[in-house]
Amino acid sequence: MRQRLALLLILLVMTTAGQAQTGSTFTPAMAARPDVQQALAYLDATFDKHVAEWITLTEIPGLSTHEQKRAAYVTAELKKIPGLQISADPMGNVTAKRPGTGPSAGSGHPGAIVLAVHMDTVHPMDTDLTVKRLADGTLHAPGVFDNTASVANALQTLRALDTAKIQTRGDLIFVFTVQEELGLKGMYYWMAHNPAPAMVVASDGGLGDVNYGALGIYWSKMKFTAPGAHTMNSRNQPHPARAAAQCITDIYSLPLPPANAAVPAIYNVGMMGGGTVVNAIAPENWFTVDLRTIDPVLIKQLDAQIMAKCEAAAAAQKVTFTREYIQQSEAGGRPESLAGRLTHPVVRTTMDVLKYLGIEGTPNPTGSTDANVGVVKGVPSVAIGRSRGGNQHSLSEWADVASEKTAVKQMLLVLISLAELK
Ligand SMILES: [Zn+2]
Repeated sequence: MRQRLALLLILLVMTTAGQAQTGSTFTPAMAARPDVQQALAYLDATFDKHVAEWITLTEIPGLSTHEQKRAAYVTAELKKIPGLQISADPMGNVTAKRPGTGPSAGSGHPGAIVLAVHMDTVHPMDTDLTVKRLADGTLHAPGVFDNTASVANALQTLRALDTAKIQTRGDLIFVFTVQEELGLKGMYYWMAHNPAPAMVVASDGGLGDVNYGALGIYWSKMKFTAPGAHTMNSRNQPHPARAAAQCITDIYSLPLPPANAAVPAIYNVGMMGGGTVVNAIAPENWFTVDLRTIDPVLIKQLDAQIMAKCEAAAAAQKVTFTREYIQQSEAGGRPESLAGRLTHPVVRTTMDVLKYLGIEGTPNPTGSTDANVGVVKGVPSVAIGRSRGGNQHSLSEWADVASEKTAVKQMLLVLISLAELK
């Protein structure tokens, strides 16, 4: 009888553990714990320093592949926080592991939660990055919003965790990534060279965003080449410009799902070029294609159809066709693969934390952040917001100061909820 009872108990525990994969792991009671309250109070008390550091970080140039100075700053700050295992990989990603207390914590713990914040920006190294702080409570500078706000939040979250001596079951692994803007290259490298975590949280987007899918993005350069010929000798000669023109026309005849479809798709020819003189067939003409959808099957189908149109146009004009990928981020948002995500802790917890902080969260199956790498690899992943702001990737980029405080609290509460407090 006692054995049976024990068996029943084990079964009950197993069932409960299974159920733990749905629903939120955040509760207001958890937020009310003295250690968590101390961490939140730390974030309030040090917010002026937080903003000062955010400005310092923004003014360090960080064009993709040139993140070294930012990485050096981050590493120096991480070294001041006790208990972190800090490392750098050959790509330039900086990792700070805060070991959990769980049974297998510390060695690729299956309960590990990764937080990814990208350090790189799209702004050339000689861009004026001087931050202007306006009376309306906004900061203005290239990169201040995307994604320096998140880098500042990640450092503050680690300091708050340490100050309040918060312990989690799962490891918290903070990854300061490189080359996010070049097709998530740093995060792809990290995920390929580390044990798979339980969940990935990226901070990249506006406050309130809860992106749990992965927008697939293929950027291609379509090149048509031939020997070229003077206009006088151009009759019936292989003609790259005509092939490119035919291909562009044909691409736009491909049927797309309607804009309001459950799984929309879109493509755009954004750039064209080739030729240097008026009086000759150019030896090369090219154009670019930006193809996007959340459906990993559809993106490959459309890509194949676009390629077929280019190959047919090249054959008709007797020119050589080659395609060069500028970047390729895989999609991971097919409805059936994301069906469970809305009830998964990674989304529910984020929504509940936002609600607790007085923000209406907006779940969205698209996303184009480091979290995509997790989604594509089947790891439950979400991208949360940093501050509010706008005009990212432009010289008029701005961010709202007050919302950064809410965002850093969100980061702290999401991470400790998902990694489970001890
Ligand atoms: Zn970004």
